[in-house]
Amino acid sequence: MSLAPLEEVQAAVLRECIPLTPRAVDLQDALGCVTSMPVEAEERVPPFDNTAMDGFAVRAADTVDPPVELTVVATLAAGADPSNVHVGTGEAVRIMTGAPMPSGADAVVMVERTHAAGDVVVIEHHAAVGDHVRGAGDDLKPGDVVVDAGTVLTPAHVGVLASLGYRRVPVFPRPRVGVLSTGDELVDGPQPLRPGQIRDSNRAALLALVRQSGFTPVDLGLAPDDETAIANAVESGLDTCDALVTSGGVSVGDFDYVKAVLDKLGSMRWWQVAIKPAKPLAFGTVKGKPVFGLPGNPVSSMVSFELFARPALRQMAGHRRVFRRVARAIAAEPIRRLPDGKLHLVRVVASPGEEGHWRVRAVEGQGSHQLAAAAGANALALVPDGEGVVAGESVDVLVLSGDDPS
Ligand code: AMP
Ligand code: MG
Repeated sequence: MSLAPLEEVQAAVLRECIPLTPRAVDLQDALGCVTSMPVEAEERVPPFDNTAMDGFAVRAADTVDPPVELTVVATLAAGADPSNVHVGTGEAVRIMTGAPMPSGADAVVMVERTHAAGDVVVIEHHAAVGDHVRGAGDDLKPGDVVVDAGTVLTPAHVGVLASLGYRRVPVFPRPRVGVLSTGDELVDGPQPLRPGQIRDSNRAALLALVRQSGFTPVDLGLAPDDETAIANAVESGLDTCDALVTSGGVSVGDFDYVKAVLDKLGSMRWWQVAIKPAKPLAFGTVKGKPVFGLPGNPVSSMVSFELFARPALRQMAGHRRVFRRVARAIAAEPIRRLPDGKLHLVRVVASPGEEGHWRVRAVEGQGSHQLAAAAGANALALVPDGEGVVAGESVDVLVLSGDDPS
């Protein structure tokens, strides 16, 4: 079987993963979700003219020749109703930040530029009309588009929607992603290992990747290398999930049953991708829902999630940009490899370098079983087929975490 180019497999997977049906979700659950339609303001923010400062609301014309003495006729705190308060000629109102402007006043003089004694305030500053007044609708007016369709909601968006009184927002829901480990050798938890057993690490890592990507993780546990057990786990998982991620059982070994199960339950495609690590990928749709059969080696399963599952799940979540941006880096040391017809995804430490470039250094231990070594990396260098890169040469990277140098 010939090796399939990475982009070809990514495109084939994306074709099967369509956005979930939009619905209104609670504002507090919407952070990071993508809006499915524009949201408009239906009221003004702020709703009324108010003061940006603690001080005195005045008529600007009264302060032309400071210092001037004005009579303090009332006090307005934030939340006060200003209906019965009026500032006439020669008058002022003591006012606190956020309080509504009283009728008659057209400016605020900050308290630091005044001296008050009893009912009299001395204004030491010539105020201009509008000074320190936040006008009604300064931030939003009815009909303004608050967030456009396709916006990834940030904490500020959540706040803006709250400022308009919205409790829910129309978004593409977060995909619920079931994670299943397969393998007779796997053990859950801390009990002593019998000969031949290892602990299941993929499920924990993949559940964490699902969460980190903004999706909802669902733990589907462990299945042995048994067709019926895997089929049952996949089918029941799909009852409650929008997509599944399994690990193990997709290579060419004697007990690799995930492929067989996906083939029976739905339509399955199986690739040998021209990449290292994470060469095998089984991908199927069962009951119209995508199932990603990722390879079992711990580093491979995580790289495979990053390259195939994350973009596809982002597409389901309504994201318009599904792939991570490829950044340019300079190799701080040589990254050697041998020609083998594959793109190598080398685990590297990326740190901000000069002129907006990353500097990268490969971590020691590039085996696809060496998860501890990979855990020290924060980026994948895309090293094309050939002999690798020399020190000082540029290389493309996918930065998984860390501050952007540019
Ligand atoms: P497989 O893809 O099932 O042939 O597994 C490839 C390698 O990954 C084997 O060494 C497995 O023991 C290991 N492996 C499979 N699943 C897991 C898992 N959930 N956690 C840790 N290692 C695993
Ligand atoms: Mg296995």
